[in-house]
Amino acid sequence: MTPADLPTHLPHFIGGESVDSVSGATFDVLDPVSNRPYATAAAGDREDVARAVRAARTAFTDGPWPTMPGRARARILFAAADAVEAREDRLAELESFDTGLPITQARGQAKRAAENFRFFADLIVARGDDAYSVPGSQLNYVVRRPVGVAGLITPWNTPFMLESWKLAPALASGCPVVLKPAEFTPLSASLWPGIMADAGLPSGVFNLVNGIGEDAGAALVGHPDVPLISFTGETTTGKVIMREAAENLKGLSMELGGKSPVVVFADCDLEAALDSTLFGVFSLNGERCTAGSRILVERAIYEEFCERYAERARRIVVGDPADPATEVGALVHPEHYERVLAYVETGKGEGRLLAGGGRPEQLREGNYLAPTVFADVKPDARIFQEEIFGPVVAITPFDTETEAIDLANAVRYGLAGYVWTDNLKRGHRVAGAIEAGMVWLNSHNIRDLRTPFGGVKNSGVGHEGGHRSIDFYTDEHIVHVALGDVHTPRFGANPDGASR
Ligand code: NAD
Repeated sequence: MTPADLPTHLPHFIGGESVDSVSGATFDVLDPVSNRPYATAAAGDREDVARAVRAARTAFTDGPWPTMPGRARARILFAAADAVEAREDRLAELESFDTGLPITQARGQAKRAAENFRFFADLIVARGDDAYSVPGSQLNYVVRRPVGVAGLITPWNTPFMLESWKLAPALASGCPVVLKPAEFTPLSASLWPGIMADAGLPSGVFNLVNGIGEDAGAALVGHPDVPLISFTGETTTGKVIMREAAENLKGLSMELGGKSPVVVFADCDLEAALDSTLFGVFSLNGERCTAGSRILVERAIYEEFCERYAERARRIVVGDPADPATEVGALVHPEHYERVLAYVETGKGEGRLLAGGGRPEQLREGNYLAPTVFADVKPDARIFQEEIFGPVVAITPFDTETEAIDLANAVRYGLAGYVWTDNLKRGHRVAGAIEAGMVWLNSHNIRDLRTPFGGVKNSGVGHEGGHRSIDFYTDEHIVHVALGDVHTPRFGANPDGASR
């Protein structure tokens, strides 16, 4: 269903104005149900990025944003949260239309995005800075200062929510920003200028440049006046960005890909594990960085688990993202769809196909894939090793706890891990042994905003979440103050010194 009043053109937003690219270049934006272009977006390049960085840099040097008291910035962030929530329905319909996310799952995104703004508004007011007293000698105090213009580069899965996850801490810290949204899904980002205006954010603090990653994204990474890049996306892109950013020694936060294991022991609450492992890989169309896309199941319950899992997977409702009954919608873009389908074909030679395996018969166009389940997948299989980023899961049996841990860690990624067992000691042991930034025990991915978020190995560098995000966008400036006389060795104080 096409939302009413759908924009047909998506410009940049620079220095408080909607503008097109200096070159006039545009690119087409498709909806994943028809794969037909419904809008054009301005295709930014070096010149447009330079213009946006100039606006942000002026907001940084001339103020008032970076030097405003935390409370004053927090007021504006709270207003931004309210403005996001006021657009809840509109955001959900735009996000669902542009990304193919089921509408019921798109509806949650506004609340989470608003919560990000409120959380970092609270944090910037509540947090104190360190001071170190050296009695009788020194007082040392830390002043945190925003680093400068922050470049925010985001992916197409839950785009608006992930943009808010970077915008909120960057703005709370006092950094003006240039946001480069993913080119597959620029639609919901077009809401930000209105949100920021409603909130009363000073002009030039929020800037948005649409465009292709290799052009607009690369220009942001290469710009010498952008000291920070916060990036979420694929591991291969992350590596390119790290290489490019080295030239200017930029601060980097890298949230990258995943191939997260779920370890299911025979003693677990099987019903709960089934619910959670199905939701964990098939929600958000499987286009989820923390998806539990490899399920490792103890041999004693392996056949029963596979059978029940596949039966449920076959019953998942795939269809029009706008239909509230839909559980899995359309994959974001035909290029991505082809890539996922290629993995499904590879999987047919690597595992036992239990469910799905292709386009559902009744859905003749659009990027639809029936939830696909492969069992008996060996650890050297590509569908075990590589991130597919779609509704596809690999199930593998194990016999011992040691084998389960080895299998869990047998990939280059280390974003999330999940463990299902009723044995408390084993639960902690295995959670501790999984090489991942985040592990959930007897739960799917539920996160408190204060906790660290991030991956190890090829899944990322650095952690976000809570004060870690503020640490990233601010520099620590230490002032050492002498409290008494300082006894300094007196160089050059001897009148005969030089002649000796
Ligand atoms: P992607 O790497 O293709 O693109 C992400 C962003 O980077 C886009 O805005 C793109 O335009 C830009 N980009 C591409 N090439 C660039 C370059 N050379 N220089 C600068 N910018 C460039 O990723 P995607 O396909 O949009 O997103 C899916 C990936 O994101 C998956 O791997 C997923 O696991 C990962 N992801 C990770 C997390 C996390 O928190 N760890 C969260 C969500 C998604």
